Amino acid sequence: ELNEKTVIVTGGASGIGRACVARLFDEGANVVAVDLDAQQVQAVIDHLGADERLVAVAADIADAERVDDLVATTVNRFGAVHGLVNCAGVRGVGSVIDVDRHVWDRNLDVNLTGAFNTTRAAARATVDAGGSGPIVTSPSTAGVEGVPNRLAYVASKHGLVGLTRGAALDLAPPGIRVNAVAPGMIRTPMTSVMLDDPEEAERIRREHPIGRIGEPAEVAAAIAFCCRTTRASSPARSSLRTGGSTAGTSSTGERPDD
Ligand code: NAP
Repeated sequence: ELNEKTVIVTGGASGIGRACVARLFDEGANVVAVDLDAQQVQAVIDHLGADERLVAVAADIADAERVDDLVATTVNRFGAVHGLVNCAGVRGVGSVIDVDRHVWDRNLDVNLTGAFNTTRAAARATVDAGGSGPIVTSPSTAGVEGVPNRLAYVASKHGLVGLTRGAALDLAPPGIRVNAVAPGMIRTPMTSVMLDDPEEAERIRREHPIGRIGEPAEVAAAIAFCCRTTRASSPARSSLRTGGSTAGTSSTGERPDD
């Protein structure tokens, strides 16, 4: 279903985004992998075989002009944008008492405004071309419940859930499906600080009733499902890939989709 479709993946150099680049490429899509570091994102492409269906772009998604440029570049190269997977993200530490203002700003700029920049640019290009397609965001369970000492991250991810829901309604008429895939704890460079500490890893594992930490490829499978199927078509449907960790606490009333 993804043959000849072009999907932009932000955060494509690492973790979940990297797994999405591989999965969507395997499923036949043209994939534009976007990340901050040119060499790291190019290395991901090279690892997959430097195919002409793969392009690496270095860009900061917090920079709206740069995001518009990368979408224009994608249209020039492949003729259209059919999908967007928002995986770029940062995770700052700090409580409401002591969070550093720079950490607050960067979390909001990347996790929320960055996702707005990419969603707006991709949606405009898709609508201008008379097309339809999927947009996926990756809010985290921190988008639906609080986490101590992660104030900026929690606030940005709650905002991202709102962005997903609002955009889903705005973009339903032209046929653009906007969905959130909200993982629990997944083993990636973002979480290695916690998971490399045996006591912390055990505490986190106990919070996940499936009894283990998730892997990026599992989240990529859920995101690929959102990209290729019309079954995930209800606006802003949330897929909580939480390993069951929010099964007893979700305030959204939505059933985890594990
Ligand atoms: P990751 O391994 O750190 O990958 C995120 C990538 O995004 C990194 O390569 C990072 O580059 C890049 N990035 C950061 N800021 C950027 C910007 N302004 N423009 C472009 N790229 C940028 O993280 P991950 O664990 O795969 O997480 C992917 C997404 O899933 C994030 O939005 C995260 O919040 C969300 N999520 C993750 C988990 C989890 O347990 N891992 C759970 C729930 C949700 P640098 O490394 O250079 O900063």
